[in-house]
Amino acid sequence: MRFKPQSMVEQTSDLTTRQQNILEELNNCADEISGQQLHRALIEGSYHIGLTTVYRHLRTLQQKGLVRCRNLPTGEALYSPVNRDEHHLTCVDCGRTLVLRSCPIKNIELPKAQTKDFELLFHTLEFFGLCKNCHQRQKGI
Ligand SMILES: [Zn+2]
Ligand SMILES: [Zn+2]
Repeated sequence: MRFKPQSMVEQTSDLTTRQQNILEELNNCADEISGQQLHRALIEGSYHIGLTTVYRHLRTLQQKGLVRCRNLPTGEALYSPVNRDEHHLTCVDCGRTLVLRSCPIKNIELPKAQTKDFELLFHTLEFFGLCKNCHQRQKGI
């Protein structure tokens, strides 16, 4: 059993073992991963779990506000722990991704009138553009 900070234990106490395995795997992963990559990692860690079950648990974890998900222009969804507040700049051509050093909207205030009936769990923010290589290739430089 790996040591977990107190807040983490409280947060995850109502999770099933499977969901805790998944959350742990996401936390161990330095980068965000797709459901399929996560599934492969779990299988390699000798957990017997189906891909559909992985997606079902990911959805539950998202609903509990523990896992965030973002969709790439390719339609692929990537998952990471919600406490990792990271944003990306993605090239629409080659898909190259740059992790932004800080969250530009960390302290943003949302209109209270509109959010009062919501318990905010996480946010996503995406930037898209053309990387230098793709830009030069498109311009025929
Ligand atoms: Zn590119
Ligand atoms: Zn953020």
